[in-house]
Amino acid sequence: MMLERSEFAGAELRLSPNIDERVGGPADMLVLHYTGMDVADEALDWLCTERSKVSAHYFVYEDGRIVQMVPEHKRAWHAGVSSWQGQQQDLNSRSIGIEIANPGHQGDYPDFPPEQIAAVIELCRKCVERWAIVPRRVVAHSDIAPQRKEDPGEKFPWQSLFESGIGHWVEPSTATGGRFLQRGDQGQPVEALQAMLATYGYGVEITGSFDEVLEANIRAFQRHFRPARVDGVADVSTIETLHRLLSALPESQ
Ligand SMILES: [Zn+2]
Repeated sequence: MMLERSEFAGAELRLSPNIDERVGGPADMLVLHYTGMDVADEALDWLCTERSKVSAHYFVYEDGRIVQMVPEHKRAWHAGVSSWQGQQQDLNSRSIGIEIANPGHQGDYPDFPPEQIAAVIELCRKCVERWAIVPRRVVAHSDIAPQRKEDPGEKFPWQSLFESGIGHWVEPSTATGGRFLQRGDQGQPVEALQAMLATYGYGVEITGSFDEVLEANIRAFQRHFRPARVDGVADVSTIETLHRLLSALPESQ
């Protein structure tokens, strides 16, 4: 079935060839990206070019214009090798992907303009309602692929989305001092940290070693939930924010 108009009122339609069928059920997850290219139109072209082998359901320009590239019931190709809440394969089959135009960390990583964020919020609201996506499953690409990806990054206003009813968020802890954990540390406190991250959804194994995988996951957690400092060190405020987040999780999720 070809779409004749976008499923999101007011959006333009420009279909990407990079689609196929979902496997295993409908979408129950929303993954947010930045394009990581200097020019938005070039990023959109790329997502609609067969040889790129990438796509997403929606694209949001800096000025808030929205383009739909893939019908929501089809599978877009945006997640790559990734993991969330124990699912380690084919997150594309279970997700809606939204690409947000921004040059990203490889460029000058400008702030996301308010018009763009307003459009992202409206679009996410529709997707979350239509597919009944629970808050914990509205994630950054970096949350599900922390060793490969850093988008949409620490400038992305997760708090604004949360205040509009989208995603999960808590006020970050500002605690300082005290004991922290970092690369090279071993033992029970590291295990406890890994268990908390895994319980939330991050793809970490409980090994008791603070290795590069854990460091990448801490960095991803910080980008999303404690963006004041993204350094991969599990300091007191990072750990306390993670505690708060787990405590705030509705049992039904
Ligand atoms: Zn991405």
